[in-house]
Amino acid sequence: MTEGSEGGTGRHVVAGLAKIGMALRSRAWREGERLGLTPTQAQALGLVRARAPRPVRLSQVADDLQVTQATASDAVSALVRKGLLSKDRAPDDARAVALRLTAAGEAAADGIAEWPDFLLRSVDALDECEQAAFLRGLVKMIRDLQVRGDIPVARMCVTCRFFRPHVHDDPRAPHHCGFVDAPLGDRDLRIDCPEQEQASPGQQEAAWDRFVRNGAA
Ligand code: SF4
Repeated sequence: MTEGSEGGTGRHVVAGLAKIGMALRSRAWREGERLGLTPTQAQALGLVRARAPRPVRLSQVADDLQVTQATASDAVSALVRKGLLSKDRAPDDARAVALRLTAAGEAAADGIAEWPDFLLRSVDALDECEQAAFLRGLVKMIRDLQVRGDIPVARMCVTCRFFRPHVHDDPRAPHHCGFVDAPLGDRDLRIDCPEQEQASPGQQEAAWDRFVRNGAA
């Protein structure tokens, strides 16, 4: 832990994140009640929506929401009963369950996707540089939590096999995405990209080293 994080600044950042977390939870409760969903059901629905059109497995719901298999199964069963999710056998594994949104589930999930919009308005209060620095800081924190096993693996640029950090001279877009074959700036870094494919551990390590070493803002 650095001196700053032991002292004031680190603790203030954690207090600020906790406040934002509380705001998100309270919003999720209120909106979930409106739709007749528990927060876990709402999160499961949002997760299936984020992965569409690919089907989602029950084990993925448990992993991503960091709940037990039994809790995930209860939430999914309730969503199936409400007609918001369909449950079939996974095409590539007859023992696994593939979850998809029904038409009603899509409409409900669209409502859920709008919940964080109240935060988006606050993020818009930051200027471009502040947004880029904030996103870069979040990426570093999420990767650290991921490495320590405190959160599930996220579909981030910095662990993607298509990510090439600091390969362009343009300081506004120094990185490159090999998937779309286009430059990326710090403001464009993705935390949940549907096209993400995990890089090998060696490639991740090398990319992270280059990303951090060249990006002292
Ligand atoms: S495919 Fe997605 S996660 Fe990977 S580098 Fe491109 S934008 Fe980032």
